[in-house]
Amino acid sequence: MTVSHVLGFPRIGPRRELKKAVESYWQGEIDAATLAATGRDLRAAAWTRQAASGLDMVTVGDFSWYDHVLDQSAMLGAVPPRFGWSGERVDLDTMFRMARGRAPTGVPVPACEMTKWFDTNYHYIVPELHAGQTFRLASEKLFDEVAEATELGHKAKPVLLGPLTWLWLGKVKGEPFDRLDLLPSLLPVYRDILSELKRLGVEWVQIDEPALALDLPQTWKDIYAPTYAALRVEGLKVLLATYFGPLDDALKIAADLPVDGLHIDAVRSGIEAEAVAARLDSPKILSVGLIDGRNIWRTDLDAALERVRLIRGVLGDRLWLAPSCSLLHVPVDLAEETALEPDLRSWLAFAVQKLGELQTLKQALDQGGAAATELLRPSREALSARRASPRIHRPEVTARLNAVTDAMLHRQSSYPIRAAKQKAWLKLPPFPTTTIGSFPQTAAIRATRRDFKAGTLSEAEYVQRMQDEIALVVRKQEDIGLDVLVHGEPERNDMVEYFGEQLDGFAFTQNGWVQSYGSRCVKPPIIYGDVTRPAPMTVAWAVHAQSLTTKPMKGMLTGPITVLNWSFVRDDQPRSATCQQLALALRDEVLDLEKAGIRIIQIDEAAFREGLPLRRRDWQTYLDWTVRAFRLTASGVADETQIHTHMCYSEFNDIIASVAAMDADVVTIETSRSDMELLDAFVDFAYPNEIGPGVYDIHSPNIPEVDHMVALIELAAKRVPAERLWVNPDCGLKTRGWGEVISSLVNMVEAAHRLRADL
Ligand code: GLN
Ligand code: ZN
Repeated sequence: MTVSHVLGFPRIGPRRELKKAVESYWQGEIDAATLAATGRDLRAAAWTRQAASGLDMVTVGDFSWYDHVLDQSAMLGAVPPRFGWSGERVDLDTMFRMARGRAPTGVPVPACEMTKWFDTNYHYIVPELHAGQTFRLASEKLFDEVAEATELGHKAKPVLLGPLTWLWLGKVKGEPFDRLDLLPSLLPVYRDILSELKRLGVEWVQIDEPALALDLPQTWKDIYAPTYAALRVEGLKVLLATYFGPLDDALKIAADLPVDGLHIDAVRSGIEAEAVAARLDSPKILSVGLIDGRNIWRTDLDAALERVRLIRGVLGDRLWLAPSCSLLHVPVDLAEETALEPDLRSWLAFAVQKLGELQTLKQALDQGGAAATELLRPSREALSARRASPRIHRPEVTARLNAVTDAMLHRQSSYPIRAAKQKAWLKLPPFPTTTIGSFPQTAAIRATRRDFKAGTLSEAEYVQRMQDEIALVVRKQEDIGLDVLVHGEPERNDMVEYFGEQLDGFAFTQNGWVQSYGSRCVKPPIIYGDVTRPAPMTVAWAVHAQSLTTKPMKGMLTGPITVLNWSFVRDDQPRSATCQQLALALRDEVLDLEKAGIRIIQIDEAAFREGLPLRRRDWQTYLDWTVRAFRLTASGVADETQIHTHMCYSEFNDIIASVAAMDADVVTIETSRSDMELLDAFVDFAYPNEIGPGVYDIHSPNIPEVDHMVALIELAAKRVPAERLWVNPDCGLKTRGWGEVISSLVNMVEAAHRLRADL
């Protein structure tokens, strides 16, 4: 009998119970005991699901109140000194203060940094490392949960984040040093953890080392073998889990590690699982991850069965089956989706359904023959229906894509010629001021959208209220004295969802939440078919806004790469193809805006950089097709029409050539917190077009001072010629209150005026 397991299950609960409980706890509405009870219920339900699906072990330690990397830090006693923690065990509120700066008890402190987990949309709390740091076992959470699972009658397979990935993800604070210097003091704590797990009766422990899928320096790769040799605990078996990509030259290292088993992501690593199977010494086991833990499509189980049959031919019972990675990255249960079209629904598998697929695959493998063929029938039928569906394939989209010419990827003239034409009609002052698009999304605006969606507000009334809001936003911008105005985006719940809802080829779930960070969840759209735009999406709002002012109104779109990166994307064609389809649909919107008299158009690409592949050798391919998609979106307009793009981050070193190749007339970026140092990438590259380096941090409620912004712009002007500089905030203002927004923008405009006077 083949063993099956998962690397992790979603922790949020089928209805985001975790979010609700944790937020109530933060608000002081429930106490720690009530919160703990919710956690116990969620864990018990997840384990029951796993056991009911015939898994041989349930995964323990994938549950977290906030983040599993933070849990690992807590277990190692890695609490930065500013939290004033001196206890035996890292308590709940210390943990929450590390995550978000405050908790029901304890003094508020600056939170630890948070960043994206590999190439997912999940964010982890970055471990802080300093020279000479010591570690000690400082959390019983994992042990308690193992005991809890055992009491419930499950066979527990605890999961830990491995020491090398934990160190790799950590950030050095204070004087620089080599993170690997900390390994000798870290390993004894890991040994203590493993010994305790063994004492609790654990047979298998899963240790995650996803860093092996990155371009690690050789010294880091070399340290894996001695590290895992040092972690051997007599009588306890270790499954080393890798995922998110091929291991490449680290494959041999992983296969030869002194552990008892290896997990390979067989969805994203080509035939590495097969390659390892051929050389894995007995009695090591190989866990093969053939069910995609990163997407929501039903697995092609026939294809999966063929692969695992061959591997079983080599390994026999040493083959285990699993999803490719933790199911943390997919929604919990398709059963919650009652509004999806039945055919589309039959093509999908969320975490619970993936457990079912695992069970089916295992049964088919163990039974073989006609029984297997029969078992896989529903999967096969769903897949062939999907392949043949007219909802997916639209010949006119393919035809249009095939007809894209090189000319469509280029503006009519080069930037200097365009810039002259744009300056001629725009007549903007030096240091023109603008904003990034959204203005405060008040409770009233959200209620209006919600009521309209629920059908309790008529369309006419909805449009009226939105137009009123736009009028207000326009008037305020005029009062403040901004040069290029925006309509404020009141009609948009989310910058991707808003467009997805109006494009064909997209579907939306009611409850398909995925954890993004802490209690924050996102509900990514599903791009299931060829993308078309049945009608203009933003034109009416933009035209209305322009009608209210003589100042230029900037149209506002979300770009194709960002829509792609923040959605679940179809897996039956390359992502690049889906991106080009999005680009064509958005190109039509750009042209319609232009035709309607909107002559400045911003195409937001907030998620351009985060889509970079994990391995450097894959970057150029990604950058090539994303730049092409942006250019396809933007290049149809006349020279006089000014294209802006916005990217709300600032590390441009790796991508600056591509940002330049996008050839937007103006790019606005986030720079205020780095004293403009982050403009250096643009300077070193001699970036030729206009730049709007953000002059104040919109994440902070503080009102930026005029002097400070003047100084920042002067710093920017040392790097970029003043005639190519814009003045704007770091990002959109939708999360801020009106009071602070007005004071901040008044100061920003004042700063620009002072600079103009000095010219
Ligand atoms: N135009 C969007 C806004 O202002 C951009 C948001 C973003 O970059 N994340 O809200
Ligand atoms: Zn932004």
